[in-house]
Parts: sequence; structure tokens; C-alpha cells
Amino acid sequence: MSNQPYSFFQSVEKSFDKAAKFTKWDKGLLEQIKACNSIYSMRFPVKMDDGRIEVIEAYRVQHSQHKSPCKGGIRFSDEVNQDEVMALASLMTYKCAIVNVPFGGGKGGIKINPRKYSVYELEKITRRYTSELVKKNFIGPGIDVPAPDYGTGEREMAWIVDTYQSLKPGEIDAAGCVTGKPITQGGVRGRKEATGLGVFFGIREVCNMPDIMAKQGLSVGVEGKTVVVQGLGNVGYHSAKFFREHGAKVVAIAEHNGAIYCADGLNEEEVFQFKQKNGSVLNYPGATNIFKSEEALELECDILIPAALENVINGTNARNVKAKIIGEAANGPLTPEADDIFTERGILVVPDMYLNAGGVTVSYFEWLKNLSHVRYGRMEKRFTENMNTHILSQMEGLSGKKVSEKERLFIMHGPDEVDLVHSGLEETMIAATREIMDIWKSNPEIPDMRTAAYVNAINKVATSYGELGIFP
Ligand code: GLU
Repeated sequence: MSNQPYSFFQSVEKSFDKAAKFTKWDKGLLEQIKACNSIYSMRFPVKMDDGRIEVIEAYRVQHSQHKSPCKGGIRFSDEVNQDEVMALASLMTYKCAIVNVPFGGGKGGIKINPRKYSVYELEKITRRYTSELVKKNFIGPGIDVPAPDYGTGEREMAWIVDTYQSLKPGEIDAAGCVTGKPITQGGVRGRKEATGLGVFFGIREVCNMPDIMAKQGLSVGVEGKTVVVQGLGNVGYHSAKFFREHGAKVVAIAEHNGAIYCADGLNEEEVFQFKQKNGSVLNYPGATNIFKSEEALELECDILIPAALENVINGTNARNVKAKIIGEAANGPLTPEADDIFTERGILVVPDMYLNAGGVTVSYFEWLKNLSHVRYGRMEKRFTENMNTHILSQMEGLSGKKVSEKERLFIMHGPDEVDLVHSGLEETMIAATREIMDIWKSNPEIPDMRTAAYVNAINKVATSYGELGIFP
């Protein structure tokens, strides 16, 4: 954003430098880790429905190849620019390192407002973008694997895989050229809700840490906490859903054209349906309207979840934020100034590049599924069910007692794909939270959780450069 003292990429560099001081790596290696390795800026023509030709501006940035392939979403937004894509690609490198997903960071962007194009026009733009990536060797299951991001979803990923496959006939692993695909095109169950569920798992783990909660003046656990969610896109919607389902109260939901507040809690699905019908969340029955959407960020609450775009909390509004925990579901919602203000005020910021890593974690599971050509659970589901049935009948026989029908179904159940994906994600988010907290606690000089997360990422990426033998 132009009114910020730093560009988005510069603010990522600033956070990196702040953390690099707490590591022991060579200056040159740190410079290499920070730099974007390859930047592909393109322009291509697309004929619109009315016969007009429009020149489309688009990017793909590969920030790091310390692991292959590169990985990261593609966004459709009229705010897209090279600096933004570079920043987002860098965040992907650090994000993947933190959650032990063996990819380098990448990101793509097409500078369009998707609402202004017909579905057919969007399809043409997406397919042309994909063929540009193929031409320059910027996509492929072992090269660079895009995924959904702001303004894109399953539909766009289906167009990408179809275009790729048609240009690369006979490539056995072609389905792994993109993730976030519909199940019918090689997607994995559980990908759609993955980022929101990851946000929930990450914050729940933080809320289960008694020392951290005592510092924030909060009780342990998610139950009963008040939550404000900014953005009702895929990430915001699913974050709100999992918080609500686990006993938290989503007291406000903010969208770009207005926000609503209800002290008794909102149901994200009902709000979503209302928005679909009326074009806005405003005037939702039983809720109070907040016409200036940004004001929702300043509401009284325990947990604030910015789940829309970058730079929404900055030097101007950070002092007005009343939340005790901020969970960065979006990429880069806070500027470095906001970070400093929150550190000074003792507000806990749970940083984006690990908290929203659920999407890429499940993308990793999808990519593995594509490379292995087998659905998760296919091999073990029946075996586990047979074994559980056997164990249960032995126990019932020996004890002379029977479990209830509900318990029987639960105990016998063998894992489906979605069970395995959710449990893999849960394990990943819990482990990442604990690792970052341990780093933070091990050095009292580290000012905040973001810096601890960067230290973790830098150490992992630097170590794998060592593994490559580049820096023996
Ligand atoms: N766009 C998501 C992110 O920013 C997902 C990326 C992926 O799955 O590769 O993390």
C-alpha cells in the first residue's frame, strides 16, 4: 500500500533481518535465503466476450529452490504487483520450512478483479497464464506447483491441471502440477477447509498453554473466547466455523463493504447465505451494522483473526486494537509498525507464515497423493476396521459387557482420507506451535512470536543449503 513507509517485500525483509540477528549464519547465506531467485513478469493478450483484446499483467515468482518444487498459490486481484508477489513467495519459503513441508516458496498473481470478468473470460485468462508458465518451464510437479489463493479456488485449479495435461501428454505425474484441485480432478479431501482448520489448530494450541494465557490475562482453552473475523472468504469462513464449533463466540464478521456485530455470536454459514443473497453482510437480522469495515478490527474481543489482505493493521490503527491475541490468517495483515506497537502493548501476534500454513500442508498431502496415485486410507481402512472389530469382540467377550452402538461405530471406524488429512494437519500445527514457542522461550531477547518463527525458518532453510553441499 502506497501510504505505508515500506513495500510489502521490504517489510518481509525487515522481519527477516530482525530475526537473522538471533542466528549464527554467514551474512552471504542469509542474503541468498532472502533473495527471490526467479521472477517471471508477463503480459499476454486475451480476447474478451465483446471481441475486445485486453492485455493481462501477471507474475510468477520462485523465491527459493533450496527444496523442489517451489510451492505457492496464485491470486487474482487488481492490487497484484511484482513487489507483492515477491513478498508472498518469500513468506511461502519460510512457511514451508516451519511446517516441514519440503518445498521452496513460490507465488503467482494475475492483476485482474475476477468479479469484472465472465466465467469464460476467466477460463481463457487462466489457461493462457498456465501455457505461459509451461513455455518458460515455470510449472510442473517437480518444478513449481501453484495452488489457490485470494480470488482463486478449485475451479481455476481444474483449468490449470487440464491445460497442463493437454500440453504434456503422457506425463505420469502431471496431476501433481497444481494443488487445491476438485476431488474429481485429483484433489484431496480436506484441502478446502485446510487453512481455516490450521488457523484454529494453531490458536487452540496457543490457548492451551497456561503460561501464555496467564500473560495475556485469559483463561486456558478456546471455549468461551470471543472472536472477530475479518474476511468471509474461504479462510475466514472456515476459521469462524471451527472456532464456533469448538465453543468460541464469533462476535463480529467484517467484509470489505461493511461489518456486523452480535454479542451472542454469529453463525458463519447463515451469514454467508445472507451475503450471497443480499450482496453484503450489512443488515443481517439480529446484528448491529458497522458501516466502516475497518472499525471491526478495533472491537473488544479476545481473538482477532484478520483473514483478508495484507497491511490492514498498521501504525495508524494498531493502538486502537483491543484484542489480546491476533491470529494472522491472511498473509501479511500487519505492518512492522503494528508489530512493534503490539510487542510494546503485550498483545500476542500469532504470525501468518506458520498460522496459515494449513493450506500448503494439505497441498503437500495432495501432491503426495498425486505422485503415489492412491487415495489415502485405501490400503489400511478395511484392515483397521477388521482389527478393531476383533479387539472389541475380544474385550466384550472377556468382560461380559457390551459398548453402546454409538461407541461401537466410533471404535471400529477405519480412517477415511479426510480423517488422515485432518489428523496430519493437526499434528503439523501442534508441532509447529510448540517448536516456535520453545525458540521464543529459549531466548529472552527475541521480542515476539513472529521473530521466533523466522528464526526457526531461517535455521531450517540454512541447514538445507548445507545439506545441498553449497555451503559445506
Ligand atoms: N495460497 C496458500 C498460502 O498462501 C496455499 C499455498 C499452497 O497450497 O501451495 O499458503
